[in-house]
Amino acid sequence: MSDKPKVITRKLLAWYDAHQRVFPFRGTKDPYRIWLSEIMLQQTRTETVGPYYERFLKQFPDVHSLANAPVESVLKAWEGLGYYTRARNLHRTAGIVAHEHDGVFPRTAQGLQALPGVGPYAAAAIASIAYDEPIPAMDGNLYRVISRLFLYEQDTGTAKAKKDLYDLGLSLMPQTRAGDMNQALMDLGATICLPGTPDCARCPLQTECEAYQSADPAALPVMKAKKPPKQIPVSVIILLCGRKVLLLRREKALLRGMYLFALSEGEDGLEAARKAVKKYAKDILDIHVVGTARHIFTHQVWNMTIYLARTPTCEPVEHGIWADLAQLDALPVPVAMNAALAHARAVLSSE
Ligand code: SF4
Repeated sequence: MSDKPKVITRKLLAWYDAHQRVFPFRGTKDPYRIWLSEIMLQQTRTETVGPYYERFLKQFPDVHSLANAPVESVLKAWEGLGYYTRARNLHRTAGIVAHEHDGVFPRTAQGLQALPGVGPYAAAAIASIAYDEPIPAMDGNLYRVISRLFLYEQDTGTAKAKKDLYDLGLSLMPQTRAGDMNQALMDLGATICLPGTPDCARCPLQTECEAYQSADPAALPVMKAKKPPKQIPVSVIILLCGRKVLLLRREKALLRGMYLFALSEGEDGLEAARKAVKKYAKDILDIHVVGTARHIFTHQVWNMTIYLARTPTCEPVEHGIWADLAQLDALPVPVAMNAALAHARAVLSSE
């Protein structure tokens, strides 16, 4: 077998020692901290995660404090990071580790993957960084860098390509410092071997890189275009009752457990908004448009019209809270509601 993988590993680890990026969540072997940062990093930019990670750790310094906290306080601490299923899974996983594993995280990627919300990538990242398991953590950076290093020209969306690239990644894993190797590949992908135009002139692996030597590295990896997200019209209704506003705990999978204003999803217009709000209040004194907003989820985009409505009686509502200004600030409300939330705050403050 060629010694190319070994040379790549040696050179890249040397480069990492000199050029690694510094983040608050690096430099630890504590699986709790690594797990927390990997879950936060899944769908959030690295730069954004730092302050959230530090605040979260202050509030929940170990797996027991997280397991014993009410899920709502976890969702509140997560507010702003989006993709709240991650926070709910975080809380469930903490409960499992604290109560079923005596507070000790499984030591292998396979064991870690049995925990809620821990997929193959996160499991490999945690196992390699915390326990030095030689397993590649295949994220977008690794798929890109490895497909270029080994000139892999097939569509990377297929199961076969994923397996091929995983095997190539595995060939790069050293018996010690596997976590560093994964992070080195990530750093190279994030700073030099960029999507679009890689900065090959600065790359420590030019000599070994087959795409650089023989082809157009920018053309790799090969990816078929994804389906565009679905556009969904949504009416968001700020329903006021005196100095209170109606918030509803979400039961649907998307944003489950978070508090949202009354919604009509899939339909917009004054009539749709009026119909939606009638479920929560018999008498509607007034309803009118106060703004618009847009929020992009992974598979759908909410094109929102925001309405303000008033009712004279705060009737009890299933899964609902008539919240005053203080409660509005204390409840976990998703970023998708930010525009409506700002409006509701302004109205309640002026009443
Ligand atoms: Fe990426 Fe260019 Fe380095 Fe190859 S030489 S790994 S394409 S940056």
